[in-house]
Amino acid sequence: MSEKVIMMTAQRSSAPAIPAPLEAPTGLLADRLGRPLHDLRISVTDRCNFRCVYCMPKAVFDNDYQYLPHTALLSFEEITRIARIFIAHGVEKIRLTGGEPLLRKNIERLIGMLAELTTISGKPLDLTLTTNASLLARKAQSLKDAGLQRVTVSLDALDNTTFQRMNDVDFKVDDVLAGIARAHEVGLGPIKINMVVKGGMNDQEILPMARHFRNTPYILRFIEYMDVGASNGWKMDEVIPSSEVVRRIGAELPLVPVAANYTGETAARWRYADGGGEIGLISSVTQAFCSDCSRARLSTEGKVYTCLFASSGYDLRALLRAGHDDAEIATALAHLWRARSDRYSELRTNDTEGLARGPRVEMSYIGG
Ligand code: SAM
Ligand code: SF4
Ligand code: SF4
Repeated sequence: MSEKVIMMTAQRSSAPAIPAPLEAPTGLLADRLGRPLHDLRISVTDRCNFRCVYCMPKAVFDNDYQYLPHTALLSFEEITRIARIFIAHGVEKIRLTGGEPLLRKNIERLIGMLAELTTISGKPLDLTLTTNASLLARKAQSLKDAGLQRVTVSLDALDNTTFQRMNDVDFKVDDVLAGIARAHEVGLGPIKINMVVKGGMNDQEILPMARHFRNTPYILRFIEYMDVGASNGWKMDEVIPSSEVVRRIGAELPLVPVAANYTGETAARWRYADGGGEIGLISSVTQAFCSDCSRARLSTEGKVYTCLFASSGYDLRALLRAGHDDAEIATALAHLWRARSDRYSELRTNDTEGLARGPRVEMSYIGG
């Protein structure tokens, strides 16, 4: 037997079994709670040049941390092939994330490949990316040229000292703001700005951030600090509930609730009563939105996670590399989604003793 055949056999044995019979995607999948599959987040790298205290704390992600070797990563061809199968199942929106997605070499080439895909109804894919903006000023034009539609930028404070305490690598606020401005200039909008609020760390920045981004083209979103991964030492008393964020802003700048744009929208929307624009609140801890969750996540090494808090993923890379065809992979995905019953955040709400907490993967690996 040749070496190649031996390798294929070994890989095939570790791949999940394909359910029979094969079935063609209809675009109408629903999981056990009736939720469709609309949204795919793809982590393109598990590496990052920031060490945000709530995501990749330095004490864990130090020089000895074992990142995935390059061969473990999905290639752009593999990612595009998987994306095409997800689209056949009804996905209309793809977000590239990580780690820091702009660190992945030649990311523009992947964006170009994904931008050519269309949804089942023939519309262009909603293609977006979440970034810490460290490379955004430099890359905005090439990302736009490649076919990226929008970006979401993470920024946790306007005060430089506070921001640097959060990112833990001395990255400056002004450089993030320059990235945002450049992305806006080249047309990567509407741009959303994500601020993770960690009590006692940056909550004093809620109002300065609101004032700064009011009356701008940018939509500021406040994210409750979540218990993702196993590294950030999360404590409930460090979560500032969204209701408190609304209260603090509303006391100075009156706010009015706005109806959701679509079912499954993660952010609750509020607008300034005087017409100064709107903000979003992502309340994954205090107001779980599992009942509308239509998101799947593809990890850097090709595992599918049907929930951000899942402890294990489904190994699509093994299927791909064992030589299975699209029909087989689509069938496997259909079974995976139909069996889905995840609703971790809802369970956590009723689980004050932490019983719902099991082992889980890091945000930087699964993608936020
Ligand atoms: N590196 C990119 C960035 O920071 O924008 C993309 C990946 S990051 C994991 C995606 C998003 O997850 C960011 O907006 C980040 O703030 C958020 N995030 C990471 N850890 C979090 C946590 N523990 N709670 C809430 N949001 C978190
Ligand atoms: Fe990096 Fe984003 Fe995580 Fe911060 S939140 S450490 S920028 S992956
Ligand atoms: Fe979706 Fe899981 Fe988050 Fe619930 S906890 S909203 S199911 S990712």
